[in-house]
Amino acid sequence: MKTVVTLPELRAARLELAAPVGLAPTMGYLHAGHLSLVRQARRECASVVVSIFVNPTQFGPHEDLGSYPRDLARDLDLLRREDADLVWTPTLEIVYPPDFQTWVTVGQVAQPLEGSMRPGHFRGVATVVAKLFNAVQPHRAYFGQKDAQQAAVIRQMVKDLNFNLELVVCPTQREPDGLALSSRNVYLNPEERRAATALWRALSAAQKAYQQGQSQAERLREAMRAVLQAEPLANVEYVSCAEPDTMQEIEGRLEGRQALLSMAVKIGKTRLIDNLLIGG
Ligand code: AMP
Repeated sequence: MKTVVTLPELRAARLELAAPVGLAPTMGYLHAGHLSLVRQARRECASVVVSIFVNPTQFGPHEDLGSYPRDLARDLDLLRREDADLVWTPTLEIVYPPDFQTWVTVGQVAQPLEGSMRPGHFRGVATVVAKLFNAVQPHRAYFGQKDAQQAAVIRQMVKDLNFNLELVVCPTQREPDGLALSSRNVYLNPEERRAATALWRALSAAQKAYQQGQSQAERLREAMRAVLQAEPLANVEYVSCAEPDTMQEIEGRLEGRQALLSMAVKIGKTRLIDNLLIGG
């Protein structure tokens, strides 16, 4: 496994890689969710590239950029074990030199839900992912369903800007009690960790209601809200039952369509998101 920092180093190492090349972009502090992307890329591609970069432009001014967990030595160890070929760990100045002034702004799909709670978030995400795609030139790029709107935003960007690659969205990896793996789970104290299962319990309750014949989107949102409101440590930012491609809220019945159930919930100071696809 090779580790590179600068763009010239990356480009030279990229030339040595056999096609097809798979890229898994990450912000590091890797867990089994990230590693599942690397593993799927390893199965499907001749070469596997992983980027590790905590992208400041996708954090809001009052978010956790300063405290975001980092452990590069451990990350590299884990990636070596997954047999990654190339790891790119650019510095802030490499990704955003002082005169940086070009941004990628995705429209409607980036506006509701995460986009409205975190202004500027998807501009930061789309810009850094566009830069990663241009630098690495992967044939396939691996993202997690855990960040469902992010995957939809990137899919739109790939289409609109003619990136010549295939987007692969991998299933959400969970703890045995359903909590979606996230680098931010380390912020939770034991009491909060127990409360954090409310997200999965809420998604499961709505899924169960759907399976038992409830197909009114608003009833499904209510089923999620009811579970979350019963959890004293949970503070709901949004619950949603939306079209998975456009992220527009569904009104009325699902009528056999696929729907994305999703939510953002604060448990203490920690903001967690989760989602589940139903129907279709
Ligand atoms: P991050 O380091 O949080 O930017 O995540 C990097 C990639 O890993 C993104 O595509 C995420 O969607 C994906 N990811 C994060 N958590 C999980 C999870 N629990 N299961 C599957 N993929 C995940």
